[in-house]
Amino acid sequence: MNEPDVRQKTPLILIVDDEKTLRLLLRRAMEQEGYQVIEVCDGEECLAACQQQLPDIVLLDAMMPVIDGFACCAQLQHAFGEQCPPVLMITGLNNQESVDRAFEAGATDYITKPIHWAVLRQRVRRLLQTRWAMAELRRKIEHERLLMAQLEAANRELQRLASMDGLTQIANRRVFDECLQQEWKRLSREQAPLSLILCDIDFFKTYNDTYGHQAGDECLKQVAHIIQQTVKRPADLVARYGGEEFVVILPNTEIKGAVHIAQEIRSELRAKAIAHAGSRVSNFVTLSCGVANMIPHPGTSPHQLIAEADRALYQAKVEGRDRVVSALVGTELKTAVS
Ligand code: GH3
Ligand code: MG
Ligand code: MG
Repeated sequence: MNEPDVRQKTPLILIVDDEKTLRLLLRRAMEQEGYQVIEVCDGEECLAACQQQLPDIVLLDAMMPVIDGFACCAQLQHAFGEQCPPVLMITGLNNQESVDRAFEAGATDYITKPIHWAVLRQRVRRLLQTRWAMAELRRKIEHERLLMAQLEAANRELQRLASMDGLTQIANRRVFDECLQQEWKRLSREQAPLSLILCDIDFFKTYNDTYGHQAGDECLKQVAHIIQQTVKRPADLVARYGGEEFVVILPNTEIKGAVHIAQEIRSELRAKAIAHAGSRVSNFVTLSCGVANMIPHPGTSPHQLIAEADRALYQAKVEGRDRVVSALVGTELKTAVS
């Protein structure tokens, strides 16, 4: 909630007293200080006046008929909570019990009758200053809270942008590197398999040459989307590896499962039938995929896994493209075309 800047306007003092003469004297003293004044003669009117316009200070007589100052003060606190203006109790009672009751009811300060006018003026000034300072502090805290929220949102957005490939909106190379390192470590502890699929669009240079670079970009977006849609497990990651190459990390996946996913990606792509007149292996855009699988050894890097996937991809190209070649580390490469 935005509080009004109390320093911008003349402070408003609400005088609550059943004695007309005292009200008059109080009004004069407050007006001499340059304050704006409203006066009412009992607790009920005081509450109603505050509902209409919240004053900056309430000068509240303790002894009044119907609702006395103590009850009125408690009701003000209840009704306005944190927004409640400071209450300065003015009373003829000068015993400890009354002082205690006043503060218990929520009064901010207390002075006794007969009023010492210089003291009253100083107390009112001090209460107003405290109120301004509090309002200012609240405003600053609120402003800072807002700035923090904006900063956090900006950081989140920055994080998102830093993780994403700008063109295809899938994870970028940096995220791939981090994810692979992490999964490599995790699965070496678990001694579980990790599979990698490297996909490369066939004859993409001629796609650009035939349809233009912009159409090439659109094609990359489509292919990225198809791969992303096909790979479903939450732990899997699809990333743009470079130009027209994509990579899929499949943790806890055996080579058979990885080959199956690579074939699925190919068949989903074929189903989209993106025309590619410049391709020498099909009328449509096709992918060559290299699949590799390892159970990571503790203390080693995933370098060999990437190299094997790359070797399998190269083999897929050599063998005629539009196919999947899988490499079980240390064994012969195996081709799968469907
Ligand atoms: P191969 O079947 O052997 O993979 O042939 P290729 O033409 O796909 O391979 P090559 O590496 O010769 O060419 C890749 C092309 O991908 C060249 C480059 O212009 C294009 N490319 C890379 N990044 C982008 C991109 O962000 N947008 C577009 N439109 N083209 C890109
Ligand atoms: Mg390439
Ligand atoms: Mg290519």
